[in-house]
Amino acid sequence: MTDLKSMSLPELTQWMLDHGEKKFRARQLYGWMHEKQVSSYDEMTDLPVRLRENLEGEGALVCLKTQVVQVSRLDGTRKYLFRLADGNDIESVFMPYRHGNSVCISSQVGCSMGCSFCASTIGGKLRNLCASEMLDQVYRIKKDIGERISNVVVMGTGEPLDNYDNLLKFIRMLTGEGGLHLSQRNVTVSTCGLADRIRALAEEKLQITLALSLHAPNDEIRRQLMPVAYRYSIEEVLDACRYYFACTGRRVTFEYSLCKGVNDRREHAAQLGSMLKGWNAHINLIPVNPVRERRYLRSSRREVDEFKNELEKYGNNVTIRREMGADIDGACGQLRSRYRKRDVT
Ligand code: SAH
Repeated sequence: MTDLKSMSLPELTQWMLDHGEKKFRARQLYGWMHEKQVSSYDEMTDLPVRLRENLEGEGALVCLKTQVVQVSRLDGTRKYLFRLADGNDIESVFMPYRHGNSVCISSQVGCSMGCSFCASTIGGKLRNLCASEMLDQVYRIKKDIGERISNVVVMGTGEPLDNYDNLLKFIRMLTGEGGLHLSQRNVTVSTCGLADRIRALAEEKLQITLALSLHAPNDEIRRQLMPVAYRYSIEEVLDACRYYFACTGRRVTFEYSLCKGVNDRREHAAQLGSMLKGWNAHINLIPVNPVRERRYLRSSRREVDEFKNELEKYGNNVTIRREMGADIDGACGQLRSRYRKRDVT
């Protein structure tokens, strides 16, 4: 079966020609899938019935099935559990911000990076998502809320740079003409720091924002939290980030999840501050979201504020991530893992 929804317009055009169809049919089909985001071939009313039947036989139209929607009564955050065609579940989040509607998507089913505070990695990685499955998370949510989506962040389950080719395809289709046509500046990709892939991404010369999950002021602590730190030292990752900035002119954002007693002390803030001095960096502090299977506790509000104050002494721009959807399964992968457990028991 062919995944027509993962094809770029030139690929789809070639596919139509190979199947004896006129070129303009590709543009029509692409429009139905990516601009109107319909969920079946039947709805593509200006395609001849014969062609619609052929399409049905050639490849199922990738369309995620909504299993669960949790809506926060506090701030309108909506958390979705979607079922893929192979029966796997993934989760995505909708956040209505003052500056626009934002969608956070997953890039893999599970994750193999093994960060010790994260729920997404508990069952390991099952597989990569294809471009259509990443796009359809945005499309289904847009249809559900009936409003424009202005920002997309690839910060859900999975390591996006471990699914590089599909990620790039997704970004190009999300931001290209004939689809949602989002500005690349409104797309953020978060990585645990695969330095080689950061360098490759830099050379694609996209205008997206790269967020680096740093989470530690030195390699020793980073290795406790993130196994990937054994593969790449902080210095190697920061070098790759410098290269990203040099190639794209886009500043890298740093994410730092505060785990009580592990990486949240004043001396950690000082070490981090001096390491990033001169970067004019944006550092986003995230009080860790406690996960049942993990042992980490959230730093107190006072500890977070003190950490921020110390960091700012080094000329960094520091924000504390506003917690969204505190009354629903908040942390990455929690909805999926809870649901899976419920299935088993
Ligand atoms: N693999 C990518 C993107 C997915 S995770 C990455 O590592 O960046 C998105 C962000 O949430 C990362 O910064 C990750 O470290 C963080 N995160 C994961 N679990 C968390 C938790 N329980 N509390 C706070 N932040 C968490």
